[in-house]
Formats: sequence, C-alpha cells, structure tokens
Amino acid sequence: MKLIYDLSFEDLENYLIENGLKAFRAKQIFKWLYEKRIDSFEQMSDISNSLKEQLNRDFIINEFEVVKRQESKDGTIKFLFKLNDGALIETVLMVFDYGYSACISSEVGCNMGCKFCASGLLKKQRDLTAGEIVLQVLSLQKYLDTKDKRLDNIVVMGTGEPFDNYDNVLKALSIINSPYGLQIGARHISISTCGIVPMIRKFANEKVQYNLAVSLHAANDLLRSELMPINKAYNLESLMDALSYYSEFNNRRITFEYLLIAGLNNHEKDADDLARYLKGKNAYINLIPYNEVKENPYRSTSDEETLAFYDMLKKRGIAVTLRQKRGTDIDAACGQLRAKEMIK
Ligand code: SAH
Repeated sequence: MKLIYDLSFEDLENYLIENGLKAFRAKQIFKWLYEKRIDSFEQMSDISNSLKEQLNRDFIINEFEVVKRQESKDGTIKFLFKLNDGALIETVLMVFDYGYSACISSEVGCNMGCKFCASGLLKKQRDLTAGEIVLQVLSLQKYLDTKDKRLDNIVVMGTGEPFDNYDNVLKALSIINSPYGLQIGARHISISTCGIVPMIRKFANEKVQYNLAVSLHAANDLLRSELMPINKAYNLESLMDALSYYSEFNNRRITFEYLLIAGLNNHEKDADDLARYLKGKNAYINLIPYNEVKENPYRSTSDEETLAFYDMLKKRGIAVTLRQKRGTDIDAACGQLRAKEMIK
C-alpha cells in the first residue's frame, strides 16, 4: 500500500476526483499533513468520516521507526530510520549559523560505486519512493517542532544518486516545496549528483529553481575515472557540456563539490586542472574535508593541507568555499552509520 506522502498535490486532487470527491479537499488534507503535521487521518477534524475511512483503507500514514539516533557535540543529529519493509536509511540534521539543514537519502544503498564512499559498500537495494523521501524531511521537522524550530534547507546529498531515482526525487521535492506542503523554497533546496549527463539535461528542461551541485573531486579524466566509475560513461567534457546547457536556462551558479583526499587530488597540478576546467564558468568549488572510511585506503588532509589547497585555488582566481566539518564524532561519512549497522 502507498504512503499518503507518495502523493503530490496534483496526485491527491486526481485521487479525490476519481473517487467522486471535491478537488479542494486536497488543500485541506495537505495542510493537515504538512502544516499541522498530524499522525493519523482521525485527527483531520474538518474531513468527513467517510473520507477519513477511505484514506485509511487506501494509504498508510505512519512514521519511520528510529533505529538509532547519534548526536554530535556540534549539534548534528544523525537518524537511522527503518522503513516499512525493514530497509535502513540515514537522514542527517545539521545546524548552521543560517539555520537547520536536512541531508536526505534518495535510495537504499547506491550503485554509483565511488571508491571513497561508504554508501557504495552496499549496492542499491531499491529506490526510495517519493513518500519515503518526503517523510525524512517531515520526520526531522516534527523533531524540530518539539523545539519550536523550522527546517530551512534541504540537501539531497545523503545515500544514493538522486538522478538515478529521478522521478521520485523530483516528485518529493515538489511536495516539500509546495505552498500547501512543507513550503521550503526552491532556492533552499539542493540536489547533488555524481554527474549523470542525460539526467542533468533532463533536469535543465524542468526549469525548476533548485540548486544543482556536482560531485567533481578531480578535474582530469584519469583520476576522476579512478575515483568515480560514472566518469567512464560521462567524462568531464560531456559533463561540462550538459552543465553549460543547464546554465543557458538557469543562470544560477553551479556548485562543484571537491573532496580533499590526502596525496591524491590536492597537488598544484590538480589546482591547475580545476582552473582550466572552470575557466569562464559561473561556478564555484566547495572544498569538502574527507571523512575517513575504515574499509578504504583514502585519508583526509590535515588542516594545513586543506588550507594550502584552498589558497592554491584562490591564487588561480577560482571562487571557493570550505565546508565546515560536521558530526565527525558520530560516523558522519555518508552511509557510514547504515553500513556499520548492516555489516556488523
Ligand atoms: N550521489 C550524489 C549524492 C550523494 S553523495 C553525489 O555523488 O553527489 C554526497 C556527497 O558526499 C558527494 O559529494 C560525495 O562525493 C560526498 N562523500 C561521499 N563520501 C564521503 C566521505 N567519506 N567524506 C566526505 N564526503 C563524502
């Protein structure tokens, strides 16, 4: 059976019409689900009993079971959720100066096979449904409700490749973004992809205002292919072509994420490659300190090495920001908590 959160606003209107009911009820139901954030259909006090019963017959309205909750000294909270079929996913709540941000997963496991990533240790079991993506955000908002706080930002940067589960991710974001839904503005929502070129083009055609981030990690094909198998299918040139196409429609800055791995991608030559790759582009680099994963050989850079690479990019005129480390005391590396639970 479907989760009620699997329905976009339009899906819900269609469902109501198909059942001989008034479409405007969709607005009421969405308000109950996402504004008042109730836990059962029974609580929808302005909905008729017969509709409540029908909703109860056709949809599940439940919360994930919290299998584990790890809280970091810096305020980051990592949730390990159990889905209705028993699958485990991670969702992370982060606190920044500008507010609360949720890092959500798009798949159970991941097939992209990036060598440095803990999520890839376990292959994709299945896509998350739109409702399971929405429910991650809703669960964190319900947790924040207990503190009278509001989620400000959503980043689709947890386990999974969002463009490998394209339809469900975009549907979920439409619910999160809906004026009747969670009302998180498109500019406060970011999608991070490893670079599935045809999907970047498809995304460009949607003309939505979400931010796009691309995991780059190397600006030469040899090294990038070694780290990220996706580069063998879509190399750097085809990636930039797709991003240029995207920029034609949406002249927002593209974020390139660049993980710093000691002795691997932090040389002067790597900075040169980056400068060449980004020349004339409306883009910036977000340097990410690497969270070490026990099962692989990659090591994080020291603070001095991180700053040295930052300076190398600055000197070359590249717009660059340095991501703060978050939750390093709580298995913060993507997929680490889930991998630990499953490999134990
Ligand atoms: N598949 C998407 C989104 C999930 S990964 C993508 O590739 O962008 C989200 C980000 O976390 C990516 O930039 C990824 O490269 C990075 N990441 C993966 N493992 C990491 C680790 N151990 N430490 C820090 N960042 C990591």
